[in-house]
Amino acid sequence: MKWTETLIPTLREAPSDAEILSHKLLLRAGLIRKLAGGVYTFLPLGLRVLRKVEQIIREEMDRAGAIEVLMPALQPREIWEQTGRAETAKGVLFKVRDGADREWFLSPTAEEVITTLAAHEISSYRQLPRNFYQISTKFRDEIRPRFGLMRAKEFIMKDAYSFDVSDAAAMASYQKMYAAYHRIFDRCGLQNFPVEADSGVIGGSHSHEFMVPADTGENEVVFCEACGYAANREKATSGVPGTAAREPGGAPEQFATPGVVTIEALSREPYGVAAHRQIKTLVYLVEDSPVLVLIRGDDQLNETKFSARTGGLTFRPATPEECVEILGARPGSLGAVRRVPAEVRVLADERLRGANDMTTGANEDGFHLRHVAMDRDVRVSDWFDLRTVAAGEPCVKCGQPLNIRRAIEVGHVFKLGTKYSEKLGASYLDESGARRPCVMGCYGIGVTRTLQAIIEQGNDKDGIIWPLSVAPYQVCLTPLQVAAGHPVMELAETLYRELTARGVEVLLDDRDERPGVKFKDADLVGFPIRVAIGEKSLARGQVEIKPRRGALLAVDCAAAVSGIMAQLQPPG
Ligand SMILES: [Zn+2]
Repeated sequence: MKWTETLIPTLREAPSDAEILSHKLLLRAGLIRKLAGGVYTFLPLGLRVLRKVEQIIREEMDRAGAIEVLMPALQPREIWEQTGRAETAKGVLFKVRDGADREWFLSPTAEEVITTLAAHEISSYRQLPRNFYQISTKFRDEIRPRFGLMRAKEFIMKDAYSFDVSDAAAMASYQKMYAAYHRIFDRCGLQNFPVEADSGVIGGSHSHEFMVPADTGENEVVFCEACGYAANREKATSGVPGTAAREPGGAPEQFATPGVVTIEALSREPYGVAAHRQIKTLVYLVEDSPVLVLIRGDDQLNETKFSARTGGLTFRPATPEECVEILGARPGSLGAVRRVPAEVRVLADERLRGANDMTTGANEDGFHLRHVAMDRDVRVSDWFDLRTVAAGEPCVKCGQPLNIRRAIEVGHVFKLGTKYSEKLGASYLDESGARRPCVMGCYGIGVTRTLQAIIEQGNDKDGIIWPLSVAPYQVCLTPLQVAAGHPVMELAETLYRELTARGVEVLLDDRDERPGVKFKDADLVGFPIRVAIGEKSLARGQVEIKPRRGALLAVDCAAAVSGIMAQLQPPG
């Protein structure tokens, strides 16, 4: 391909609304253009990279025995009602109406569609296992689309769905996908690692996210260098010690704390109650039911864990007025010892189990209670792990200190169980003729997000550094004279033909531009190899080969093709 015959609109400066480096580079290198917030056009070079990432995914999915299909983006509302997700996922669904006023959803995912297909097409254990996948455009009504392709309203996702006869068989399907994901991200040149994850609104019993470490990532990963434990911070637990028991100290005793409404204020003199001897009481409304959450004063509630323990229903913190209505006091004086209506559910964090001689709000503005014993004085409905893990806490598996780092989630594997197959009637007859629901798994890869993650990991001050496997072109030929018939241009054209004949993907920069402009653009786009052909080097009988990551090599013209080919060999 010749530069002047395609469209590569490079920019010196990124538009001001591009926040993170990879987003800026996508725009500056002329890979994408924004149509509206969270909606992008792929330009020729961006599309070439996208197709390569897709092809790697396709090859590894096929190798793992998955079957490619293509499902519609338009999905009838009815199938979403059958699974209950018309309601639970409504926040992210794009809805459209046709001329007959029938409602449709633009596919954010396809559990409903594939399970409906399986309900019709799978009837016997002989047809199982089956794993169907597609690579297609998905839609999410992101309120705040940002970071380019990282969080967009329209994006490309690979989604796969496995159907098995049993839990054990489903686990084997899960493991196959887990291994395939490692290969996919490795081939994309991404440093990646799986972490234990929360199953979220999709539901299911077992899940891992594939993470790419990056300072700009929206996920926080808790990990242990010593034993390899790694989990999304929304899910992570630690081996943090419980609360030391003390002398019970008699019955709860009320004392005045005028104006004290924070853990910190109560820890100062004249009160001097250490944060870890305080019980923090939070009031949430889950749908419309009040729920109290008790957590140690020095801990933070993890709302994802809370959500998982309250059925994934809509929730929000109660307003101060609602706290008064429910408990008789405003935030800062709340507790769970007195005046808690019997119908209010009380969830307590495990770290408070057995804690005594604690201090908490008295449910009377300006008063607290001391000598509170959880076992004796508080009606706890359920004990759960609800706290957020902090860096430095001991690993739950080996006791070594945990670290936290930011990462981009590029893939997710879930074991779904029979949640969808039961609701949509995807069942099979087993060997004895009994009807059983298929056991499912689902597996996603954010294809466009993966593309951007590759840039987030591979760049320097000059631009993008593509791995060979996904580079838009492997070689950029840069003749410094482009007039037809000029010996420099003639040599460039000869190299172009010879390399292309060997299957190398070559872009010929035939623009009549200064060398500096051409070199800057080639580095910005990030071609793995740039070959400069100029009058001076040609006079010496040489061309200059410059790997994007590596030192410049002067090579005799006669050896140029083999010199370039040598650079294209994967290391090792
Ligand atoms: Zn560990």
